[in-house]
Amino acid sequence: MTIDINAVEALDRDDPLAGFKIRFDLPEGVIYLDGNSLGAALHASYAEIEKAAKLEWGRDLIRSWNTAGWFALPLTLGDRVGRLIGAAAGQTAVTDHTSANVYKALHAALGLNAGRKVIVAESSSFPTDLYMAEGVMATRPGTVMRLEGVDGPRIEDLIDESVAVVLINHVNYKTGALRDMAALTKRAHDVGALVVWDLCHSAGALPVELDRCNVDFAVGCTYKYINGGPGAPAFIYVAKRHQEKVSQPLSGWWGHARPFGFEQGYDGGAGILRFLSGTQPILSLRALSAALDLWDEVDLAAIRRKSIALTDLFIALVEARCGAYGLKLDGPRDGARRGSQVSFEHEGAYQIMQALIERGVIGDFRAPATIRFGFTPLYTSFGDVWNAVDVLHDVMETGVWREARFAVRSAVT
Ligand SMILES: *Cc1c(COP(=O)(O)O)cnc(C)c1O
Repeated sequence: MTIDINAVEALDRDDPLAGFKIRFDLPEGVIYLDGNSLGAALHASYAEIEKAAKLEWGRDLIRSWNTAGWFALPLTLGDRVGRLIGAAAGQTAVTDHTSANVYKALHAALGLNAGRKVIVAESSSFPTDLYMAEGVMATRPGTVMRLEGVDGPRIEDLIDESVAVVLINHVNYKTGALRDMAALTKRAHDVGALVVWDLCHSAGALPVELDRCNVDFAVGCTYKYINGGPGAPAFIYVAKRHQEKVSQPLSGWWGHARPFGFEQGYDGGAGILRFLSGTQPILSLRALSAALDLWDEVDLAAIRRKSIALTDLFIALVEARCGAYGLKLDGPRDGARRGSQVSFEHEGAYQIMQALIERGVIGDFRAPATIRFGFTPLYTSFGDVWNAVDVLHDVMETGVWREARFAVRSAVT
């Protein structure tokens, strides 16, 4: 199949999501393919942050905790994130970072399944999940971790009657491989295990159905596909059926039933409230709130259709035009099994990405040898995909990526 620019332009003309791009503040001359790491800025978020800062903080001062709804934001925004992840109201809170929420969810799950000592996870997991699991194990002697890729090739085969909880990434951060949430959750439940799904690379990238899949716990960030802003707080989902039975170890005052009672002794609040710990970053929550206003207008099925079309197109063009240069697809070829990103392996991956960034095509690098491109249907066009592959082709054909300056490493890759 040959794809030409006319076909690509036709895809953009027929794109029902094309109108969303102007709502984002994207710099001229940049093709941004890193929304899976940090979503782009919305014009509306600037206005919302300014309002929260100048009027609510500057003028109304401490009264804004009540009058501007600051105190309630973790739960009001939680319900709005809930719509993106298939969670009915009252089960999601926006709070803390994903790492802390993994810690809380794992403890809560182990507490519910107190007779069992095994955590199952993936060696290919985003590392912080495993680091946090290590921290959980350090406080619960006898708890052990069983890892896909170390203790067996398939996570399904590691889940048996000894397993308390399965901690699993919905979309793999490196390869973009998408897990079957319904099937794996059922597999765990069949042997009495609970599940914690990490949705960092699926929330806002594709429809997620936590309630329908009968998920127990989920966590995820809002600064990737949801476009909440750098360091925007994460979310945690706890199924209604578990809420009155669970506890979490970061038992701070924001999760207390009566925080302004200033009582002695912790008494966890009702429902999802008890998963809060302490004071939250209001300006960041307000940037997120503006992003969620935009999401209220978005059809997630349309997001998924365009995401698969963008990523399919990218793979086809890279393989057709850059196939000779040793780039090897590192992830699913079948769009139905892919999140909203595409990765390629190459020994010069780091330098290639630096050369692309210098030419305005921004993706990222993941050690040891992966270049990663995120496709965000709200602000990426089919023409962007075409142009990005043009630049990649140029970088590969000229060999410019071999220049020494592209090998200089920064802290964040
Ligand atoms: C980005 C990401 C995180 C980030 O965790 P933070 O605590 O928010 O820094 C966690 N898990 C996965 C799978 C991620 O992709």
